[in-house]
Amino acid sequence: MIGSFLNAVIYRLPNNVSMKRTRSHCPSCDKLIFWYENIPILSYLFLRGKCSGCKTRISIQYPIVELISGIAGLLLMPKTFSYMNLFFFVFYFSVFECFLALFIIDLKHKILPNSINIYLAILLLIFGLIRFPVTHVIFGGGIGLLFPLGFTYLFYLIKGKVGLGGGDIKLWGALGLYLGIKGIVINIFFSCFLGSIIGVSYIVIKKMDKSQAIPFGPFIIIVSFVQIFFPSYFNEITRLVVGF
Ligand SMILES: [Zn+2]
Repeated sequence: MIGSFLNAVIYRLPNNVSMKRTRSHCPSCDKLIFWYENIPILSYLFLRGKCSGCKTRISIQYPIVELISGIAGLLLMPKTFSYMNLFFFVFYFSVFECFLALFIIDLKHKILPNSINIYLAILLLIFGLIRFPVTHVIFGGGIGLLFPLGFTYLFYLIKGKVGLGGGDIKLWGALGLYLGIKGIVINIFFSCFLGSIIGVSYIVIKKMDKSQAIPFGPFIIIVSFVQIFFPSYFNEITRLVVGF
């Protein structure tokens, strides 16, 4: 159900459709979607991926987001119940859903909406303060925001072009609150490295020319995902690559 809500966020936020109580309707023929056509995953199968009014194909993104969200919820579910476990479940699941929404919205529209970045920043601030010293949170957030900002300014002075989007910089600022100075600096280097590899391979296989911008958020999110959800695995990779 949260995956289904996330689909609405992914569709409505970049298209400036209100998140308030407006009923879902088909974007092609405006037909209202009945409750039984709005059941996560099952309705997509039952409708055979088509609108019941105009037979326009429904994007496969809808059931995929619902399925991924459901699986993530199951995997993150605490094995034993306690209020603390429940609290951490809400944290990890919310961060995961923010990542999923940002990933798809950036791929489709090349933007990272402020509202999701702010929501993520609040989550990471609260849990950063619970887990780490205040200095870890403040300096991590500060460096996450200022380091790429300074870098972008330098790039602008030299090249006369804006290299990174404001959304990327704000996302790094939010992530720094939880990852700390070392974590966010490693994140910036890893995501730039990953972005360059993918960017260059795209140019080489001529799917894209050099002047086109590639959405950068997905790279930041892939690196952060491993960093937050598989910290020991991530530290292992860092030790192999960077040596500390
Ligand atoms: Zn329709």
